Amino acid sequence: MDTQNQWLLATEPQQEEVLALFPERRERVAIQDFLTTALDSAERRVSSGPVTPELSRAQIHSDLEQFDFAAPRPLEELLTWTMSQLEHGVMHVTHPRYLGLFNPAPSFPSQCADRIAASFNPQLASATTSPAAVAIEAHVIREIGRRLGFPGATTGHFTSGGSEANDTALVCALTHAEPAFAQLGARAFAGPPVFYASQDSHLAWIKIAHRSGIGRDAVRLVQTDGGGRMSADALRTRLAADREAGCVPFMIVATAGTTNAGAIDPISECRAIAREVGLWLHVDAAWGGGVIASPRLAGLLRGIETADSVTLDAHKWFAASMGCGMFLTRWQDIVAAAFHVAASYMPSQERAVDPYVTSAQWSRRFVGLRLFLSLGAAGWPGYAAHVEHSVELAALLAHEMRGYGWRVVNDPSLAVVCLVPPAGARPVPGIVAEVLASGKAFVSISVLAGRSVVRACVVNGETSPADIRAIARLLADAA
Ligand SMILES: *Cc1c(COP(=O)(O)O)cnc(C)c1O
Repeated sequence: MDTQNQWLLATEPQQEEVLALFPERRERVAIQDFLTTALDSAERRVSSGPVTPELSRAQIHSDLEQFDFAAPRPLEELLTWTMSQLEHGVMHVTHPRYLGLFNPAPSFPSQCADRIAASFNPQLASATTSPAAVAIEAHVIREIGRRLGFPGATTGHFTSGGSEANDTALVCALTHAEPAFAQLGARAFAGPPVFYASQDSHLAWIKIAHRSGIGRDAVRLVQTDGGGRMSADALRTRLAADREAGCVPFMIVATAGTTNAGAIDPISECRAIAREVGLWLHVDAAWGGGVIASPRLAGLLRGIETADSVTLDAHKWFAASMGCGMFLTRWQDIVAAAFHVAASYMPSQERAVDPYVTSAQWSRRFVGLRLFLSLGAAGWPGYAAHVEHSVELAALLAHEMRGYGWRVVNDPSLAVVCLVPPAGARPVPGIVAEVLASGKAFVSISVLAGRSVVRACVVNGETSPADIRAIARLLADAA
């Protein structure tokens, strides 16, 4: 036996197992066909079944015990097992009666995009290795910037979500305020750097401040009015006091669509204040930014075009699948200053173009394709109809609940409705618990101006007026 044959014999038994990772073409097609059909039937069952998970966590953990990965198992069996776990073991955010957090039923083009991205698996770190993919993402970002009304060219990039985009804004604002931040971190500032966001802003800011090294105390949570909008007066007062105390303010965050109530901070006033004292203005429009699609609703965000940077999540109102945010800015130089690095092993270092030197991520998935295909297939008119539909259904819910004697305590322009039950009803947590226990719908509890409210947000493009009326009835009955 020569050495070559010995080598072949030694590796032969492994071949079959490796084939599980890279099956023959025909088998792949068969499994993909199976998957397409199985997913379609699961989606049908999900949309008419319970919204809430049926499996307990204990059941899920005990089912998982069987997987010790000691020996290979047939893929089809694994796929069937997994789909069943997801069908019965998650909150169905794709359900038409899920009136929950900003998690949409993903658009179909976005799901197609995921398949394509997984197949070609382009590495979007660099424009040299993936010129087409990097260009497609940059094209979408420019188009979104144009739609926001940014003057001149927009730069920016896709992110894992709103949190990463907000994190990017913070790094840019710090770098803008003090170029020595790049080398020295928070020590570069003459006093503690601080920034301003409303008390109803997204709490990721707290983690972001911690992670960046400026510390959680750097977040100044500014008072809001009864509707959840940041008070410009409170902002001015706090800013002046901080400057007096030797702190170094560097950024104002206006939230355009708060999570609890869809409130829009006074963007133009924030702009004016930021300009007076030379601060970065970031607009966090992770959810609310969706209205740029609608000429009728876009005016709600007036002033957003004057922001230094904007966060907009495609995986919220734009209905891209999970993990698709955007960071947009007018200041290419700041982004380059914040993220540049020279890596000798990378194929190119085109400062302005390569995502690995203009953003926080390095290896990068082609998530922007989800929005490119969705926008391409629906056009802006399709998206306008999509967001207007949500807003109309939110208005319908508000109307129905008023009919049952409930009060609407927020402005539901961004499809978020905050509701207070009539006097003599059960407390809000009991009402929501009963609705969830029925499995027939999902709504959540939120706190607005110190009071518990039922929060319902229309996030699903396939929710119908009949769904809304059924949910209104459920809520009224549970009160
Ligand atoms: C959702 C949201 C975030 C966080 O975004 P993720 O995509 O969950 O990381 C930040 N700000 C606002 C206003 C949001 O709605």
